[in-house]
Amino acid sequence: MKTKKECCTILGGELDPNKNWVTNVRKNGEEWIPMFLEYVDEEKCTGCGLCVKVCTGHCYEIQVKNGKKAAVAVHPENCLGDCSCHLICPVKGGAMICKPKLK
Ligand code: SF4
Ligand code: SF4
Repeated sequence: MKTKKECCTILGGELDPNKNWVTNVRKNGEEWIPMFLEYVDEEKCTGCGLCVKVCTGHCYEIQVKNGKKAAVAVHPENCLGDCSCHLICPVKGGAMICKPKLK
């Protein structure tokens, strides 16, 4: 399984440090830049539903389109940026598209 360090820290590390990103603070006091849900790549999504189960913000819903199940970001505005969905998604790199936010 991917770890937070592998997915979020590396992505955060590639961001322009001079921009005023929304940040979060780890228990050890280290500041990091969380990624927030924007949408799901329905081509990649298998419709497994794991993101729906782990998301405390109720951001996702499984919908059927053209006979294929896929997660849809129905409430991305609720995203807490905790990355639980990305960590559990079985698709390589995650089927969800998440981006940092400016303050
Ligand atoms: S990062 Fe957390 S709150 Fe945001 S969509 Fe994923 S599981 Fe839900
Ligand atoms: S966990 Fe990934 S593959 Fe499974 S429904 Fe969610 S976005 Fe799709």
